[in-house]
Amino acid sequence: MKGDNWGLYVHIPFCLQVCPYCSFAVTTVRPRLHEGYVRAVCAEIEMHRQLATRGPLDTVYFGGGTPTLLLPEQLGRILESTRHCLGIKADAELTVEANPEVADTAQFSALRELGFNRLSLGVQSFADQSLRLLGRQHCAAQAHAACKAARQAGFGNLSIDLIFATPGAPALDWGNSLEQALEHRPEHLSTYGLTIESGTPFAKQERQGRLIPLPEDDQAQAYEWGTDRLEAAGFEHYEVSNFARPGFRSRHNWGYWHGGQYLGVGQAAHSLLGCRRSWNQRLLKNYLGAVEAGLSPEAGAEELDAATAQEEALWLGLRTSEGFALHSGLAGRERFRDLVAAGYLELRGERVGLTRRGFVLADAIGVELMDLLEGVEKA
Ligand code: SF4
Repeated sequence: MKGDNWGLYVHIPFCLQVCPYCSFAVTTVRPRLHEGYVRAVCAEIEMHRQLATRGPLDTVYFGGGTPTLLLPEQLGRILESTRHCLGIKADAELTVEANPEVADTAQFSALRELGFNRLSLGVQSFADQSLRLLGRQHCAAQAHAACKAARQAGFGNLSIDLIFATPGAPALDWGNSLEQALEHRPEHLSTYGLTIESGTPFAKQERQGRLIPLPEDDQAQAYEWGTDRLEAAGFEHYEVSNFARPGFRSRHNWGYWHGGQYLGVGQAAHSLLGCRRSWNQRLLKNYLGAVEAGLSPEAGAEELDAATAQEEALWLGLRTSEGFALHSGLAGRERFRDLVAAGYLELRGERVGLTRRGFVLADAIGVELMDLLEGVEKA
């Protein structure tokens, strides 16, 4: 998504209950607040109508939260404001996230009719015990039913999110979950190791010794097994945590990883337009208060200088199959050459990418490269 391509992210912050590992900007407020939120998001889109000069959007992504807690008619109004103010290309990718506890064929059919052509389901596991440990609101039967409902509604581009390395879960849950996901023949899968974020109930449980994360070696083994299994099933491993059948990479997320431009609307949403990154109010009441007063809900912004933009391009590109453009200063560093010699990084013409072995340690290698780059800039 380079050049003139751009995308819109719409944040819908509502969930039935907040999962104990979640650090997103979400809330469990009652449905009576949903309508006010929809009006605010439509008003915010209206505030950005001058961006229509960029041409119609290539991708639109409704994420959360649980967007499907809103009525299809409400989601439709946000989409209509988008079409009216910014424009959406005829072949745009329109994604909506959903969770299995709020999912049925009639609702998914309504989303298809609105124009959504990609559904991302937050399944996380097809094993009841893992789902309970994760504090999720759905059971395995509901996860299967949601996948079937997506197909019945005509979604030909289905993505399933799964979590591996759930603390305390039986070792077989991960493999069984992945196999059951494959039975639904998804076009896309995102697989995440459970990270314990500060400020969450899981972080507190970890401090109290009531939750013990899986050892790193076990996590790496689960990740590698999943990668092998998905590649054998015909998926392309195109980002550390993402796998797609040919032709089904997430166009919207690919834009984030490769310097694409995007506008984010809604509570806590981020935007990158030109060299300017901005972010909205993180608290719902502040977001709503600003928009209802006719003001921008922006909470802060920064201009990215060339060095920061280069660091970000490296960090994000490293995590994808395309890698990042080789920086001449980096290539001369001994530690960089060591990482290549040790088989973690490989040179591909003018670019550098992680090897299969390197993908397992993507974050640690990314930190090392950032340190090296900082050293190059200071030299
Ligand atoms: S469903 Fe997703 S967004 Fe909502 S609380 Fe759980 S992890 Fe967070």
